Order: sequence, then C-alpha cells, then structure tokens
Amino acid sequence: PPVTSRSSSMRKNADDHVSPSELSPGLLDLHSFDTELLPEMSFTRAPVLGKSFDDSEPYMSTSKLTNRIRGVPENSLLKSFSGDKERANNVAKIKVVVRKRPLNKKEIAKKEEDIITIQPHSNYLTVHETKLKVDLTEYVERHEFVFDAVLNEDVTNEEVYSETVEPIVPLIFHRTKATCFAYGQTGSGKTYTMQPLPLKASHDILRLMHQMHRSQGFQLYVSFFEIYGGKVFDLLNDRKKLCMREDGKQQVCIVGLQEYRVSNVDTIRELIEKGNATRSTGTTGANEESSRSHAILQLAIKRSADGSDSKLARLVGKLSFIDLAGSERGADTTDNDKQTRMEGAEINKSLLALKECIRALDNDQGHIPFRGSKLTEVLRDSFVGDSRTVMISCISPSSGSCEHTINTLRYADRVKSLSKGNISKR
Ligand code: ADP
Ligand code: MG
Repeated sequence: PPVTSRSSSMRKNADDHVSPSELSPGLLDLHSFDTELLPEMSFTRAPVLGKSFDDSEPYMSTSKLTNRIRGVPENSLLKSFSGDKERANNVAKIKVVVRKRPLNKKEIAKKEEDIITIQPHSNYLTVHETKLKVDLTEYVERHEFVFDAVLNEDVTNEEVYSETVEPIVPLIFHRTKATCFAYGQTGSGKTYTMQPLPLKASHDILRLMHQMHRSQGFQLYVSFFEIYGGKVFDLLNDRKKLCMREDGKQQVCIVGLQEYRVSNVDTIRELIEKGNATRSTGTTGANEESSRSHAILQLAIKRSADGSDSKLARLVGKLSFIDLAGSERGADTTDNDKQTRMEGAEINKSLLALKECIRALDNDQGHIPFRGSKLTEVLRDSFVGDSRTVMISCISPSSGSCEHTINTLRYADRVKSLSKGNISKR
C-alpha cells in the first residue's frame, strides 16, 4: 500500500504550539491546523453545506460558493457599487487564486494521472506526488495548500471572472489601480484564462460609465504591449519597440505607446484580437516564443473636465491584465543558446521581483522594490496608492507536471504568506 509521508516543512506534531506569525507558508497540515487562526477558512466551511445548496451539484463552483458565503449576489457589479467606499475596503488587497485545467488528450494518451485533488466547497488543494524510496518502491507524498480560492477543472471563464476581476471593476473609478496576473508553466492555461478577462471587464466598465457615471467625463483607454527579453513592444502598433522613461515625478512612462480611446465593446474586441495576433505567437508549443514574454493589457479610466478627447485627460484608475512568461522559462539559465539563457535570466529576475513587490504591498512597506526588473518598473504606478492585486496561478493536473505544479503553488503561496499582519487584517 502507498505510504503517505508528510513534507518536511509541515509541522510534525499536532500539539506543537504555533503562533500565527510562525504559520509557515505553503504546506499546511490541515489536521493539526488551528482554524481559529484563520477566520476565513473556518468561515468557508460551516455555512457552505447548508440546505440551500443543491446536492445534485457536488462541485459547485467556488465563485458561486464564495459569493454566497459572503452574501454577495451573483452579478453583483451594480450592487457593489452603492456604498462602494465601504465595499472597496472589503475587496482584499491581494488575492491568490489557483485554477486547475483538465487533463488534455495528450496527457490522457500518455496515461498520465490527475494528481490534484480539490476538496469540494473548499479552498484546499492537495498534490499527490509519487516518489521512490531507496529500495525503489513507490510512495505518495501529499502536499497540501490553501488559497483564497481554488478553481477546479469544471469552472468556466465566466466564473473565473466573477471570482477575480468583477469585484474590482467598480473600484477603478475611485483611483484604484488593479493588476491581475496569470502565473504558471507553459501549457498550464494562462492565456486561456487571461484572454477573455479584459473584454468582460471592459463590458462592465462601459456599463458603469453609462449607468452610474453618466456625464462625469470618464473615458476608457486600451493599450497592449509585450515585454520580451527585457524590451517593450507595442502590440497595437506592429510590435514597435518602445523605450521607458521616468519623468521628474518618478512616473514611469512608455514613450510612444499607442493608447486607444474606446467606447464600445466591439472596438475593444478588435483591438484585443489584433494585439493577440501580434504577440510572438498565439498558441502554446514547446519552444514557442510567447512563453518567454509577458503580455500586458491595460484598461485606463481617464477624466477630462470638459469631456473632450484632449491630452489633458487625467488618469483616474487602471486595470492591468498580465499573461506572464512561462514560469519554467526562468530556469532556462543553463541553456546552450546564449539568447535563451539571457531571456531566462530576465524572466527569473522579473518573476522574483514581482513576488517581492506584491509582498511589499501587502505588508504596506513604504519601499517597493520596482527596480528589480523591466516588468516591475512598467507596473510601478500600479503598485503605489490604492492598489489591488489578483494572482491566478494556473496548474496542469498531470503527473508529468508535478514538479512544475509544486513550484507554481509554492510561488503563489509565498506571494501571500500568512504573515501576522495578514491575519489581523482579515
Ligand atoms: P499557457 O498560456 O499557460 O501556455 P494555454 O492557455 O495556451 O497555456 O493552454 C494550453 C492548452 O490548454 C490550450 O490548448 C488551452 O485551450 C487548453 N486549456 C487551458 N486551460 C483550460 C481549461 N481550463 N479548460 C479547457 N482547456 C484549457
Ligand atoms: Mg500562453
């Protein structure tokens, strides 16, 4: 029979006393875990299985689930707007969500197994890693994680949107800068997850502009660019290479970046499609270039006193969508090819810097280490002031991706380590 061993970083003894600040990021031993330390966790458990739930729907999507738990009706956009200052404070500064994709045909053909289990109605996830003992017998090591939300393979893009971006949209009319990242190895579903989000968000933004903010002079702008090998390319202008400059007020701007003012969803759709087509390449292949670039789509809300399309329109808020380079590419630092090595080093640097910036944000540190990489420099203005960050970690379920999956989950976990500050804030 398979032996279940615990990972070394788990606490060994259920009686060990652990203060909240010691809660190690990553591997939580759920059995010895004191749920009182984490109100949110116990919260998601109790009311969930009440009578109001349809038992024929065993894998109720996490989004519906958490919305019900929090008492937020679905499609809550307009509702959440009334009393939004109060609500704004309720939208977590940082949210880390994991999305598992289904096994694909290739993996099934290779008889790879699904090694990820997600407890229904929970935000717990377990990776079952098969290992070999010294005598070459197999055993399974279980790695347990907990995140703000865990989305299984049945969850639709629509539900991903309502779990991640939808609650943030109203805030960007109030000076909030929000960023949504997709992190994960190549082929884990980052692009699949990210591509529909900006369009859905634009749809809601335009609706709010017309319904709630009519005649207040708000304007919506779209830009779309790519960072490849530490250089910036405009995806809405034939991949023109652009430079970054810092102005006197330490604002970083990308010189010459095309920004389109948009007022209907169809135009936005066309721009997004154009940008996607201009990206290094569209779909995932083993050595395909887009896996080594970060694609950044920004929706900016501006306002001008007279409602004109003038250069005087001032930035109000911003929503950025970032399809990050494949996380495994950061390890391309020993490749034979010099170019690939350098790109790998840049990716590694940017993913590390990103993590540090998000962590610094969460701890309300005055100093945010933007300068670590091109990616974080570009995002600098989104990390100051009232900001929100959503990270969607994409994982493949297959046994063949086990190592990458664990790396992705550990990264996600470090982004949101359970610091003392975090717990008291909840
Ligand atoms: P990445 O951008 O991380 O390299 P992709 O988004 O290109 O990965 O996804 C790889 C493949 O898996 C694509 O063919 C995509 O359509 C498919 N895929 C990814 N996530 C899902 C999902 N949740 N449901 C169904 N298919 C998915
Ligand atoms: Mg991709």
